[in-house]
Amino acid sequence: MSANQCSFCGRKRSEVQMLISGQTGFICENCIEQAHSIVKDTASGPTSATTQNLDELKKPKEIKAFLDQYIIGQDQAKKQLSIAVYNHYKRLIYAQRGEKENKDVEIEKSNIIMIGETGTGKTLLAKTIARELNVPFCIVDATILTEAGYVGEDVESILSRLLMVADYDVERAEKGIVFIDEIDKIARKSDNPSITRDVSGEGVQQGLLKLLEGSIVNVPPQGGRKHPDQKYIQVNTQNILFIAGGAFDGIKDIIERRLNKQAIGFSAEKINKIDEEEYILKQLNAIDLRKFGLIPELLGRFPIITYLEKLTKETMIKIMREPKNSIVNQFIELFKMDGVKLEFTDDAIDAIVEETMDKGLGARGLRGTTEKVLEDYMYDIQPGKKIKLTKDNIKF
Ligand code: ADP
Repeated sequence: MSANQCSFCGRKRSEVQMLISGQTGFICENCIEQAHSIVKDTASGPTSATTQNLDELKKPKEIKAFLDQYIIGQDQAKKQLSIAVYNHYKRLIYAQRGEKENKDVEIEKSNIIMIGETGTGKTLLAKTIARELNVPFCIVDATILTEAGYVGEDVESILSRLLMVADYDVERAEKGIVFIDEIDKIARKSDNPSITRDVSGEGVQQGLLKLLEGSIVNVPPQGGRKHPDQKYIQVNTQNILFIAGGAFDGIKDIIERRLNKQAIGFSAEKINKIDEEEYILKQLNAIDLRKFGLIPELLGRFPIITYLEKLTKETMIKIMREPKNSIVNQFIELFKMDGVKLEFTDDAIDAIVEETMDKGLGARGLRGTTEKVLEDYMYDIQPGKKIKLTKDNIKF
């Protein structure tokens, strides 16, 4: 190869601005840019979650350690989710190997249901795990879904969203995570399956089955069916991880009833322990969710059931301060940009937490309350000033 031309594209020295020499060849600026974009695309594409090498996959403990940076408490849920996600991607590797090695065991998916009051961190957990794995992630609200043919969105629209966040890279979307929020709202209203057709509940659950069981689904690219001649995109849901969340109001009573029933004739000890909320929730299983109104077929596809604890005042205080992007840190940074030194005393945080807890919004309300407290300071921002928030100067 001549010393006067790019070894990749063959452009002559006179045709380019720069020609960099290597040991045996040359590269011009155009080829450098092209190579850079290839490297960049690959780096932001498949990562640990899509690797074929088990050693590169983060172990459950490491995944949990990552979650710990963003989510306070909820150890049980974080642990179960870390294991489920690890197994999920291990299963992917197994399937990929299986194609080559003729393995005939098929490891099934570990979709997860998370139960917990609003604002306890269900969405945050799912979102954080997707970020850690660098896979496409979308949230859908189960209440907007209806059976095909009724007003509302078909279940396929879930996959349209996933495709959208994956920039229509089907292969990437097929390894993504979908968070289905408010799954409890599509529970069958009655325990008796034969009453009448229940459009909002059972039909949607049935519709979800085909996504959950791992099949090829025809997805309208934009969601909805506005253009009948629109081409469908085929998405295989076999490796998509589904995480469902819901508050399941009243589930505790259902568990308690079951436990009491079981306890009769067995041991009286159980009944005493039932006082403890924590103990009751720990006993949660698929039978209770079935009683709540989820159909057995659907439950069969969510083998992992976990719960999030109610947030105590102590946890809420920690949420204000401790996560990497805690509310306190966010506002300190925001004020710092104007040269204002903002300080939250323990008293002030205590007051903010109490005010938020009164509203019953869980940790979700913390930001709003803090925003309100700081409203006047933000409106009349005075560069160079110091603001020390205390119990006495705080106004809601
Ligand atoms: P859910 O989905 O359970 O209703 P979210 O995950 O949407 O609740 O929580 C709302 C917000 O509250 C989150 O974005 C986060 O700021 C905060 N939050 C809730 N729970 C926690 C937690 N355990 N640790 C840290 N932040 C939390």
